Amino acid sequence: DLKAMEAADAGVDAVELAKRHLVQPWPFAGSVGAEARALIGEGEGIYITDASGKRLIDGPAGMWCINVGHRREELAKVMYDQAMALSYNTPWYTMNAPSAELAMRIAGHAPGDLSHVFFTTGGSSAVETALRFMQFYNNVRGRPEKKLILSRGGAYHGSTYLSASLNGRPRDRDWMDGADELVVKLSSPDPFRRPQGTSIEAFTDFLVDQFRDTVARVGADRIGAFVGEPVQASGGVIVPPDGYLKRIREICRDNDILYVSDEVVTGFGRLGHVFASGEVFGIDPDMITFAKGVTSGYFPLGGVVISERILQQLRRSNHPDALFGHGLTYTSHPIGCAVALKNLDILEESVLAHTREVAPYFQAQLKTLEELLLVGEVRGMGLMGCVECVADRESKDPLKLDKDVGKRIDAHCHDLGLLVRPLINMCVMSPPLIISREQIDDMVAILREGISRTMEDLRREGVWQG
Ligand code: PLP
Repeated sequence: DLKAMEAADAGVDAVELAKRHLVQPWPFAGSVGAEARALIGEGEGIYITDASGKRLIDGPAGMWCINVGHRREELAKVMYDQAMALSYNTPWYTMNAPSAELAMRIAGHAPGDLSHVFFTTGGSSAVETALRFMQFYNNVRGRPEKKLILSRGGAYHGSTYLSASLNGRPRDRDWMDGADELVVKLSSPDPFRRPQGTSIEAFTDFLVDQFRDTVARVGADRIGAFVGEPVQASGGVIVPPDGYLKRIREICRDNDILYVSDEVVTGFGRLGHVFASGEVFGIDPDMITFAKGVTSGYFPLGGVVISERILQQLRRSNHPDALFGHGLTYTSHPIGCAVALKNLDILEESVLAHTREVAPYFQAQLKTLEELLLVGEVRGMGLMGCVECVADRESKDPLKLDKDVGKRIDAHCHDLGLLVRPLINMCVMSPPLIISREQIDDMVAILREGISRTMEDLRREGVWQG
């Protein structure tokens, strides 16, 4: 009974309470609902403090989201002030000023004719919204057959049913259902894993041909959208070959396929700009999805920026009464939008320029880790990087290694003062954008020591002979 349960839990610490009552995201069946993870106490700047009081560099910036750093008083204050002024209003039949102003500011940074924003609660709901909007758009235009979605290996687009159906990372879908009948999968644009002996140019041509051939085979009249991250983030920071995104964009335009650029990670500063699609890759998508860095993770907010042309087509259609039956209780949340406005001020004032300035140094320092025998490749762009470990450099085989090599490196780095985002055989680094050169030096030195210790462990255990 409730009383007995409360008595049993009284005075129990957070770690034990989590094991008893908390279900963590992405759990394994064998430990679901019975797992504790590293308990974090506080954050400040680029650092977080663990339960023992140990200070760690926040290597993944939360989940690529704490872009302007932890404990920003101006962000905390704006959230307080907005909550005291108006904590919530229904977006069904009222509106608030911060959301309108934020939509205007975001549209000002967006490429092409992207002019309007639909706000959501995060990245998955942003991708979901873009896809449902595509479906609605094609229904209103009298093309109900044009609904298939193109996605790629290595992609990550979210954890709601339809957005997750697009995911293409190994193992994500092994035990999970998906709307497979709605999705057509293409290859990951991963130059590191291109077929041996193939040049980058030939690999790019292969990717573009595959895209074009797929459209021809499936039929442009059946494909509604392509969804792609400019740089595949959780797939291992896959930077696509030069010119590839532009060529894909053109094929989409020629075939009336909406190009949805998923900038949930690359947006709001990670590559030195509010949006990378236009300023880094020279493309003008039909929709851009964003989340995470829009509030630097201080409040759950995401959204879709939508093309003026698409909205006009809908307004001029023969079905003025057709209803886009989609909206969230927290669409256009006033606190989220207020904190995003302040966050955007900070990005525009200094953080975007700082990111562009330190990014080459960050990439160059991280690249020095290729000296270590366990490291197959270090790659990245802006302030996102990935150290990929391989059993041997010829075969690039990650599988002969203990699969948890990333976790082993993370454990050593934790002892040394750095939180790593381990991804199977990879370590992803995406620190808060305010990181200084000295702090980059610290981060890379710890990572170097963590990988070296892991190499010693693997040799000692006979798992790896490098
Ligand atoms: N899209 C991309 C590119 C992402 O990396 C993520 C999350 O990591 C999502 C979508 C889903 O966002 P959220 O976890 O906020 O729902």
